[in-house]
Amino acid sequence: HILNKYHTNKTFCDKVKTQSSIHILNKYHTNKTFRDKVKTQSNIHILNKYHTNKAFRDEYKERMKIQVSKKYKSNKSIRLKTVERTLNWYRNNNTHKCAVKYRNLYMCNLNRFRQIIREGPDYVCISCRLTLFRNQVMPFVEEKYIKQNMSNETKKHIQSYFDYSWSTEQKWICKLCSDKIKKRQMSSRTIVNKLKVSEVPFELKKLNNLEKHL
Ligand SMILES: [Zn+2]
Repeated sequence: HILNKYHTNKTFCDKVKTQSSIHILNKYHTNKTFRDKVKTQSNIHILNKYHTNKAFRDEYKERMKIQVSKKYKSNKSIRLKTVERTLNWYRNNNTHKCAVKYRNLYMCNLNRFRQIIREGPDYVCISCRLTLFRNQVMPFVEEKYIKQNMSNETKKHIQSYFDYSWSTEQKWICKLCSDKIKKRQMSSRTIVNKLKVSEVPFELKKLNNLEKHL
């Protein structure tokens, strides 16, 4: 009889449904076992939906992303945890092992580059007094140019090519001067040759450092 009434009488049907809903709601709030069961079922239902429904999955992911982002921005401990997790991930991730593998090579080249650029044109030739880079000069050794068997006159002549007043610990000579003097010739650009740079014209004085090099 009730079953018939339920199917034929809409008001009765709605009433039963409402009462049923209230009953379930009450049960949910008072009965822990029932509550846990409902929660588990609900979780399973959501999990199923997540795996079968792409739209739901995408929406869920987007919602979680926003939630995580909010938490990250507002909570310092969560921020620190995230950073730590990310660092761990980088440490354990294989795709980064490659960079580690070639790290030595990279550091080696970087150090070499730093070594090379550390020095500028700091080497002064004892003969022409040009300031040059290390690879353009060699250590000055007098005996290479003034030999024992030379006449005193030649010795003096060659000595005159060198400017000994430059009293630095280590003396350097440029390759051009060295080659010439070894042949007992005067290097064209040596100081003794009295070559001088002419006065810089007015128009060129205004150039900046970069322009001067062009
Ligand atoms: Zn020189």
